[in-house]
Amino acid sequence: MLFRSTRDPAVASTFEQAVFSGLAPDGGLYVPKTHPAVAAALEDAAPGKEFLPTASWATRLLLGPELSAAEADDVARRAFGFAPVLRTLGDGIEVLELFHGPSCAFKDFGAFFLASVMDTYCARAARTATVLVATSGDTGSAVAQAFRGRRNARVVILYPSGRVSDLQERQLTTVGGNVSALEVAGSFDDCQRMAKQAFRDTDLVRSVSLTSANSINVGRFLPQALYYLWAWVVLAGGRSGSPPPTFVVPSGNLGNLAAGLYAWRWGMRTSGFLAATNANDVLPRYLTSGRFEPRASVRTLSNAMDVGDPSNMERILDLFAHDPAGERPPLAGEAVTDGETVEGMRLAFRRYGYLMDPHTAVGFVAERKHRERTGGGRDGPVVLLATAHPAKFVSTVRVALGFEPELPPQLQAAADGRKVSVRIDATHEALRAHLLDARTGGPTC
Ligand SMILES: *Cc1c(COP(=O)(O)O)cnc(C)c1O
Repeated sequence: MLFRSTRDPAVASTFEQAVFSGLAPDGGLYVPKTHPAVAAALEDAAPGKEFLPTASWATRLLLGPELSAAEADDVARRAFGFAPVLRTLGDGIEVLELFHGPSCAFKDFGAFFLASVMDTYCARAARTATVLVATSGDTGSAVAQAFRGRRNARVVILYPSGRVSDLQERQLTTVGGNVSALEVAGSFDDCQRMAKQAFRDTDLVRSVSLTSANSINVGRFLPQALYYLWAWVVLAGGRSGSPPPTFVVPSGNLGNLAAGLYAWRWGMRTSGFLAATNANDVLPRYLTSGRFEPRASVRTLSNAMDVGDPSNMERILDLFAHDPAGERPPLAGEAVTDGETVEGMRLAFRRYGYLMDPHTAVGFVAERKHRERTGGGRDGPVVLLATAHPAKFVSTVRVALGFEPELPPQLQAAADGRKVSVRIDATHEALRAHLLDARTGGPTC
């Protein structure tokens, strides 16, 4: 498959070019140039109920012939030492738990796939990269875990000082080695702006081989489609004559949602997608008004979704605009307040005995609100994407439910580590100086 830019349909880049450059040359985002019939091929292949065979099949279909079948299988196998879990909540809701990886959030899927695919390309030809990533909390820890100790990459993480949870901060700042954490005096939107500026600085990009591990990178963005396809395969996606699932996606920077919409574009039957946001509701507003109006982000309990100017909106607008079949993506949106989020955590625990993190709870509440607002009915099962482990948000769980969740082992290790970070101002100059300065002893393939 080749990739074009959201701003220029004539661009035709290989996956390798797209992965190592992050943004397209014109500043747009890379998106698939063609739409292979992945879902139909998966149905023929009948890969069964394990995640890895589905992931391998889909990777072959998406990245062949640039990657051989053996290479594609290898990328998937090395990336996914963990798997999603489908759990029946009740009342027609299936929870798609995406937090069983090393950083306990869904971003492990994209980050580990990206690291794995970069390794494959590095094995073919000596090349190295400086991987820059702006994080609102969970991206940085997934990327840190995925790239830790890899000799072909140096990782630099930008995170907003004082705006990530204590545990999230420890996950970012205790890895060390080839991973450094920059504590930015500003918001996530500042971090994202600094990263974008860095990528536009062509001298800098060239001198440190800069690439992005944010979900603007197709190497992180694309693999997020795999668990939608897997859930759809496992739930028999409407083949039995029953309506196919609706996916509820807790959303911030919109990478996860956009990946799901691509799975639909590749033939996955669905009764639709519901984008669930917190008070940072630019997408639900766009879906109502037709106007995309980025705003400064506000802080909420679901902090990984505190994004006022979501990068992947450009991919979503592109999906709406370039539609050969004239078919708009089946997408609705719903925003949820912090008060409703806490109430949702309580309700899920009381009614189903299920402990949800605040991001997942936003999805849970959004689905209920949406049904009430639109008159009740529901087609097929609801697949609620559970984006983080509740133990990542100890204080919110304590407030909502009056107890503290037990830490899984991978979080306990971070909690015991020592924080090492570098404080910098929210300016391009400060970041540039750091990137150039720390270049000594740079990574080798
Ligand atoms: C990043 C994140 C989100 C938002 O995902 P996007 O792809 O940025 O929309 C939701 N929940 C959690 C726990 C996250 O870490």
